[in-house]
Amino acid sequence: MTPQLTILGGGPCGLYAAHQALDLGAKVTLYEKEKTYGGLAAGHERGGNWFDLGVHMLHAFDTEIFTTCQKVMGEERLEVPLKSHIKWGGKIYHYPLRGRDILAGIPPLTLARCLSGLFIAEIDSRFGNRPAGPDAESALIELYGAPLYEFFFEDFTQRYWGIHPRDLSAEFIRRKMPRLSAVDVFKNLLEKLHLTKVRNTSEGALRFETLHYSATGSETLPRRLATSLKNRGATLQAQSPITKITHSDHLITGTNYGTVTSQFLSTLPLPHLIQALDPPAPAHILRAAQELRFKPMAVYALLLKKDRCMDALYTYYRDRIFHRVGEPKNAGLLVRPSGHTTLIVETTCEIDDAKWTGAALPQIIQDLQAEGLCRQEEIISQHLIQATHAYPIFAKGFETQLREITDYLSTFRNLRSSGRQGAFTYPNMHQAMRMGATAVKELLET
Ligand SMILES: Cc1cc2nc3c(=O)[nH]c(=O)nc-3n(C[C@H](O)[C@H](O)[C@H](O)COP(=O)(O)OP(=O)(O)OC[C@H]3O[C@@H](n4cnc5c(N)ncnc54)[C@H](O)[C@@H]3O)c2cc1C
Repeated sequence: MTPQLTILGGGPCGLYAAHQALDLGAKVTLYEKEKTYGGLAAGHERGGNWFDLGVHMLHAFDTEIFTTCQKVMGEERLEVPLKSHIKWGGKIYHYPLRGRDILAGIPPLTLARCLSGLFIAEIDSRFGNRPAGPDAESALIELYGAPLYEFFFEDFTQRYWGIHPRDLSAEFIRRKMPRLSAVDVFKNLLEKLHLTKVRNTSEGALRFETLHYSATGSETLPRRLATSLKNRGATLQAQSPITKITHSDHLITGTNYGTVTSQFLSTLPLPHLIQALDPPAPAHILRAAQELRFKPMAVYALLLKKDRCMDALYTYYRDRIFHRVGEPKNAGLLVRPSGHTTLIVETTCEIDDAKWTGAALPQIIQDLQAEGLCRQEEIISQHLIQATHAYPIFAKGFETQLREITDYLSTFRNLRSSGRQGAFTYPNMHQAMRMGATAVKELLET
């Protein structure tokens, strides 16, 4: 009998899962609540121009997934050398920071303190028996030493997340900042001082990476993936929110669109999946689901009467209302009319605060002007693009709630919850796609 797979959510994870399921001979039905596919990576057309929710570029680290995406994107795929910057100590540096930049960007006395802190942290982690602390503050101090934590990470984390590192789980540091280990910072420094050879590490690959994009931005990959899935016989239903998931005897039996005998892959935010269950999940699971929080994001998408604003694909800022500004034209985005450009200004926020509602626009413009990126009179139009579930928040203690929920979900024999929202984690697109492929193999091959 042909295996059946029902996929909830049409972001990168759900779309690639559908691709994998078709390869394995399954009949696929996918439900997506929005009009377009792609989730966080979807494109947003405003006034004839395309905007991403924060410039979204494809990494080629997963060869199998990249080969599929390459085929699917066809002639629309553009190769773009990574060029990103960070504004640090009043100057613009490459991002990730290079050893030379650290040397130049930090006052000598602070630098000496930071380096000795790093050194002690490194020795401690190799030879010490200090138990790992439960919160992000102790994890950061353990990784980078107290002086660098106080100089950079404490304030940066608080600004970006609106949460002090003391109130974030140590897991946040392990998953969100894996490339900035003290060893890497040291290695970079030694490389720059020509004390060691430049090695082809994954960090090196990140610094010199080729990324993949298109003239219409991130919308190309999900659009073409969805078209390919339909051509191969999958049923894709946009504008179809899942509001109910029925179950009986540890099996999922259907959704608000009807009863079906099928395997189920959910990529919905975990709390939504739990709340949609009918009959309802036990009270302690519903409570645990309510405790899992996501950081919303508001993107100010601007069209400017100006040819270029910056000399990078994007720049990170530490002291502004926004934390990152991207200029996708520098990655090959086609902007109309000619002689114009677009900026994608990213802010993390809370629902209904000034950044979320758009009321922060004057401050955004003021900060863009202060950074010399544009002048008020160059802005032709502005659009607000919002995401309620941009980042999972690893609040202190979230591991317990997550474990309770995943243990409960594992009692359903024909269900997997995966992807960025469904696993409550931080993957890039190719990693979310890999998660979808793995979940499908587990569901269809067991
Ligand atoms: C600002 C920002 C920049 C990023 N930049 C990059 C980058 O440059 N490169 C990169 O590789 N990755 C990037 N990422 C990460 C990338 O966006 C995610 O890894 C990827 O989108 C995760 O895919 P997903 O399918 O797991 O989740 P999502 O993209 O969130 O997809 C989930 C889908 O489920 C749908 N859904 C939700 N509820 C329902 C419901 N009730 N019924 C039906 N459907 C529902 C949603 O509409 C959505 O389509 C970035 C992320 C952010 C926030």
